[in-house]
Amino acid sequence: MTDEPTMTTSSPLKVTIFNEYLHELENETVASIYPGGIHLALKRALEERLDVEVTTATLRQDDHGLPQAVVDGTDVMLWWGHKAHGEVDDAVAERVKSAVLDGMGLIVLHSGHLSRPFLKLMGTHGSLKWREADEKERLWNLQPAHPLMRGVGDYLELAQEEMYGERFDVPEPDELVMISWFQGGEVFRSLMTWRRGNGRVVYFRPGHETYPTYHDKTVRQIIANAVSYARPQLRRDDSSCPDSAALEAVPNPGKKHVLDAS
Ligand code: ZN
Repeated sequence: MTDEPTMTTSSPLKVTIFNEYLHELENETVASIYPGGIHLALKRALEERLDVEVTTATLRQDDHGLPQAVVDGTDVMLWWGHKAHGEVDDAVAERVKSAVLDGMGLIVLHSGHLSRPFLKLMGTHGSLKWREADEKERLWNLQPAHPLMRGVGDYLELAQEEMYGERFDVPEPDELVMISWFQGGEVFRSLMTWRRGNGRVVYFRPGHETYPTYHDKTVRQIIANAVSYARPQLRRDDSSCPDSAALEAVPNPGKKHVLDAS
């Protein structure tokens, strides 16, 4: 008998929003768009749409607001960081990665493409091209029936955003859900999903700090959809490699060289 998996159908869903929270404190434009921080705008977007209990965490808090107990109690984590990825303690990044492998959902936003937890889970550089030129972004809906696209039309437009261009150095996704076109001519895979261990990872591109992107109704809907989609299906540490007893008679259950080695 295998152990019964620990089902996590918690209600309300426990969401932790990590935000670096530096631009908002250092730049007047960003502060005026996101009073209280990007994490507060995201928190409201979720609370308006889902049955959630939201915790916020920021870089300068002890353990970046992500001690083991907080991570253990999180069903889905959101991650926004940009200028201080290198200040994120490696042990905390490992803690987040490990929680995803056990079953926690992780939604990585915008410049989180270079965040430590995301790079650990992807195993690639996470590199891309970028340009800040106040240009239009149009995001195309490739999978209208996908749960991430609930309430989303054929496309959505953001009047001004930072450009991200291919090639985005990530592994081939399990699902490619949106592609962006930018006024300057580039395209970018803007909404993608991966399974890692028992967990789900979602990357969603828009959200440069000097634009009001996280006040956009459709962007907020997609982030809420992502939280719902990435909720744990089960939460279990599958890191061990047990020596497994046979279910049926096998010719030589106690192989001598195996016993000698142990
Ligand atoms: Zn940016």
